[in-house]
Amino acid sequence: MDKIRKKMNQFMMGRYGPDALNSVMLYTAVILNLLGILLKNAILGWISLVLLVYSLYRFFSKNLAKRYAENQKFLDFTRGPRRTFKAAALSARDKEHTYVTCPKCKQICRLPKGRGKVTVTCPACRQPFEGRS
Ligand SMILES: [Zn+2]
Repeated sequence: MDKIRKKMNQFMMGRYGPDALNSVMLYTAVILNLLGILLKNAILGWISLVLLVYSLYRFFSKNLAKRYAENQKFLDFTRGPRRTFKAAALSARDKEHTYVTCPKCKQICRLPKGRGKVTVTCPACRQPFEGRS
């Protein structure tokens, strides 16, 4: 068993491995594949196969700088929606505060609950915006 693990470690040495973009591509591939089976749509199956092959290519790639740059682009592109989901999750957990995201810099701002419509000044970029608490 140790021999297999050692061989696997040697094989993965210098390779990129998992990241956020790969995870999203794999989950999307699985969902599209299941939808393709349910809807009997071959195109969805092919799209999921392309996503799967590309995510495997990225996983085993030795061009670390390029894979890292791709992942950073993806994280920058999805920053707004990810922050909005995080703010919603924080709001659901915290009963005394509500969390909103700054429309300019996507900073999460905490507001006291039950004040109605308020004007918020973002602590990070000083941009004023309307928030509902
Ligand atoms: Zn801001």
